[in-house]
Amino acid sequence: MTRQRSIKTSISACGVGLHSGVKVYMTLNPAPPNTGIIFRRTDVDLKKKIKVSPYLVGDTHLHTTLSYEGLKVSTIEHLMSALAGLGIDNVIVDLDQEEVPIMDGSSSNFVFLLVSAGIVEQDKPKKFIKIKKPIRVEKEGKFVEFKPGANSEFRFSMDFDHPFLKQQKLSASIMLSSDSYIREISRARTFGFMRDIEYLKTLGLARGASLDNAVGIEENCIANKNGLRYEDEFVKHKILDALGDLYVSGYSLIGVYEAFKSGHELNNISIRALLDNKEAWEYVTFEEDDSEMPISYSICA
Ligand SMILES: [Zn+2]
Repeated sequence: MTRQRSIKTSISACGVGLHSGVKVYMTLNPAPPNTGIIFRRTDVDLKKKIKVSPYLVGDTHLHTTLSYEGLKVSTIEHLMSALAGLGIDNVIVDLDQEEVPIMDGSSSNFVFLLVSAGIVEQDKPKKFIKIKKPIRVEKEGKFVEFKPGANSEFRFSMDFDHPFLKQQKLSASIMLSSDSYIREISRARTFGFMRDIEYLKTLGLARGASLDNAVGIEENCIANKNGLRYEDEFVKHKILDALGDLYVSGYSLIGVYEAFKSGHELNNISIRALLDNKEAWEYVTFEEDDSEMPISYSICA
């Protein structure tokens, strides 16, 4: 049987919110089977819980925010991506501020925390969303398409009318497994244009942004002294984001996600469009034969 996964012990980290610029303590806690991913705000009310759902995603401008009964948690996408990449189904995330810490702008610190806490298999079958029919959502020249497929595959491409980005590799794909996620995706950092930073700060965004947690793009180069972590780091980060944005469904996809220039908003619109079309997908489990499981999650990642 392919089992649900959680972590063995609680583990904490401290960081800064990318947009708020405020210091935040985060604790990841184990949770029983069928709990899902739950966020709590220790600074507000521990009894109030926000269970991830595509239908609770509100603000998608430059990050993904969940809102429920007046409670908010924001910039959840990189943590959600790490949980998706490691196949973790059940965890309770405590935050003492609204925003998940940005860490180094990628998901590798979250992967490190989760692996350090220890990943455990639980006594209930792990559920997946299997895509049965294609669904395509288009908006303003961008698109997301879900298609049936034997594995969990993510393909992303984008273009920019920008002198530096035009020369970069702007398409990539990955066949999801915990190994491929850690190796090829998890270290890709968020990026932004240096020219936009001051403007974003006047909007109350990117207040915690620095070259320690983002790749800063200048006109003809990047501002980070140590260069890129992958030659295609920009598009790899878009795959990292997509994995996190889709995992608010609580389940990993079996099939193909193909996108052109998508972002948090279109990712959310498209996962809702998929879920709303009940004929286009079904829940599947692998209770008898593990060998048919299309995504490999190594237990100790
Ligand atoms: Zn991101």
